[in-house]
Amino acid sequence: MLDIVRAPDPDYPSLRHVYGATGAPAAIIRPRTTEEVAEALLFARETGGELSIRSGGHGISSISTNTGGTVIDLGRLNGIERISDTMVKLGPGAHWGHVARELYPWGLSISSGDSGDVGVGGLGTTGGIGLMGRAHGLTIDRLRSAELVTADGAVHRVSASQEPDLFWAIRGAGANIGIVTSFEFEASTTPVVAQATIAYQLRDTATFLNRWGALVEQSPREISAFLYIGVGAAPFAQATVVYASDDADSALTALTPFTELPGMAGQRAQIVPYAAVPLTTDAPHSGQQRAFTHTGLVDHLDLDVSHGLGALLAEGSTQMVQIRSAGGAINDVPPDATAYAHRHQNFSVTAIASVDSPRFAAAWEPVHALTTGMYLSFESGRDPGRIMEAFPPATLSRLRAIKSEWDPEGVFSQNFDVTRPSSVPTP
Ligand SMILES: Cc1cc2nc3c(=O)[nH]c(=O)nc-3n(C[C@H](O)[C@H](O)[C@H](O)COP(=O)(O)OP(=O)(O)OC[C@H]3O[C@@H](n4cnc5c(N)ncnc54)[C@H](O)[C@@H]3O)c2cc1C
Repeated sequence: MLDIVRAPDPDYPSLRHVYGATGAPAAIIRPRTTEEVAEALLFARETGGELSIRSGGHGISSISTNTGGTVIDLGRLNGIERISDTMVKLGPGAHWGHVARELYPWGLSISSGDSGDVGVGGLGTTGGIGLMGRAHGLTIDRLRSAELVTADGAVHRVSASQEPDLFWAIRGAGANIGIVTSFEFEASTTPVVAQATIAYQLRDTATFLNRWGALVEQSPREISAFLYIGVGAAPFAQATVVYASDDADSALTALTPFTELPGMAGQRAQIVPYAAVPLTTDAPHSGQQRAFTHTGLVDHLDLDVSHGLGALLAEGSTQMVQIRSAGGAINDVPPDATAYAHRHQNFSVTAIASVDSPRFAAAWEPVHALTTGMYLSFESGRDPGRIMEAFPPATLSRLRAIKSEWDPEGVFSQNFDVTRPSSVPTP
């Protein structure tokens, strides 16, 4: 029998909210098996109303809760299992921090993102720009097969050889296609890495960013680097730079140039288990982190982009800019191999504000004009036009064909619905 939690059940308060939003769903279903996911979907479709699919509850668009509708909470499908030397089977409800910890004693790791609280389901169906991304690719690039429930309640096992269209689509646009109930990843054998945390005082933000971008691109692929820039009277930046190997001498050589950038104010580097890299709090969800974001992918942090970001930070409505490296092995994958098609850009750039004002939107526009794509996992806006930036025309056409076959009634339309924009421009 389905476990359905409703107010005022004792579990309801701990399940109603997500990281970025409060919610008051009428029913929260907690399936224990793939069959129960299919049953839950049938229940939700018969009940009608809003439907939310939740894995880790860390979606930036905060749609994994709702008011008055149904939530299918995959938190109980949180298994982490080693199935052969380097193959691991993960449940969508597992969190990447826990995955990293479990994999470490097996001598394995999977590049995910900077937050260990993020769920396998949300990140594993959109991309996964992580701190070993330049070395090992996107998280989805390591996916070898998956189990999926489509809108009709059918269960599919998908891989490069089994239902390859569905396998292609869930690697970038999973939320449009169905509910992934199990993932089989080929992990990398990099359990230990060198991690540096470096602080900079920014006197000339644009020049710094331009030099940062060039350094990241010139660095060996073992280097992945995330930069977080705060505003204020004395703008500052904090970087997390990971060298994906435990070779201390090579790591030192690769990390040293990052300490030579202008404004370096402090640094700490150490050899650590990769499991120590994603910040994992296990904090309960209370809608604690409502934030508004605009995001895009850029080929390089060239002078135009760097000056644009400098102006954005100086304007005042943006609280923070995050810049994640996205090149290296990520760009080895052909653009048509997965529904995540952006395989030539070197950086993801995200602006974050606490207020979703027209002023913030306007301040983002000059940077937006320089972007060449978009990773939808970092976007809180719901503008359907942005689908075109997330999925280039050929990708969007193929996604629409797959969606019209497997979700003709638009059951999975909550998260960047690929059917929304009225026209697809010709390439
Ligand atoms: C603090 C923070 C840091 C982050 N850092 C990174 C980063 O470094 N790199 C990166 O790539 N991303 C990062 N992200 C973005 C993150 O990948 C996405 O927000 C992701 O969707 C969260 O996954 P979740 O399972 O926790 O989310 P949920 O809120 O549970 O789900 C989000 C949406 O994904 C879809 N979905 C969830 N589970 C499934 C499933 N099993 N099958 C099909 N669709 C599903 C649903 O539409 C759902 O509404 C970060 C997010 C946060 C909040």
